[in-house]
Amino acid sequence: MQKKAISQKPFLAVAAILPMTQVLGPGNRAVVWLQGCLQNCPHCIAPEWRELDSRRAHEISPIELAHRLLANRSVDGLTISGGEPMLQAEALYLFIRQAKRINPEINVICYSGYSFEYLCQFPPSSGVSRLMTELDVLIDGPYIHTLDNGVGLRGSSNQRVIHLTNRLLHANLEDAPRQVEFVIQDGAVLMAGIPPRDVLEVFAGIESEVVYERA
Ligand code: SF4
Repeated sequence: MQKKAISQKPFLAVAAILPMTQVLGPGNRAVVWLQGCLQNCPHCIAPEWRELDSRRAHEISPIELAHRLLANRSVDGLTISGGEPMLQAEALYLFIRQAKRINPEINVICYSGYSFEYLCQFPPSSGVSRLMTELDVLIDGPYIHTLDNGVGLRGSSNQRVIHLTNRLLHANLEDAPRQVEFVIQDGAVLMAGIPPRDVLEVFAGIESEVVYERA
């Protein structure tokens, strides 16, 4: 892992968006997967989202994205994943702040391949500590395939569900049965959710644009 903060841009580099799902946290959630990750977890299922400057990424204003997703009043929460969300902390902070201006009740779950302690000590981009004040739950740590126990919103059991507020304490995020959802988007199949291991096995080797929430 590098210890120098990367420079950030005024927009979010987004790999994919799902305006509404129920498979990545409690209630109706909008999901944003951010482009770019500096880690290299074996069996990462979204390697195409690791590239920092992928031409596949969409550059979106955080304010505009918040208005787009929160226009749907049925959205209860946001789930942020990637890629590595903590590489875009400043723009992500602006996005969440704007989302909460539109709907103050919104809750936020965010994944990171870094541990909470590492983020506090060696933030990989500026604004990480400010961003963390806006999160209700951080699911931290790299994906370790051999520790994938097939349950919960964690990709593997080394990852921790860290409640930074008490808003989602009622939700069983650690060991609830996993669900996935397939959506056809822009001519590709988007897979949302943390897949049970048998689902991964079925899809191994299939050549399609399978995109999914991971670590
Ligand atoms: S699993 Fe997540 S943290 Fe690990 S390389 Fe893939 S995107 Fe990065």
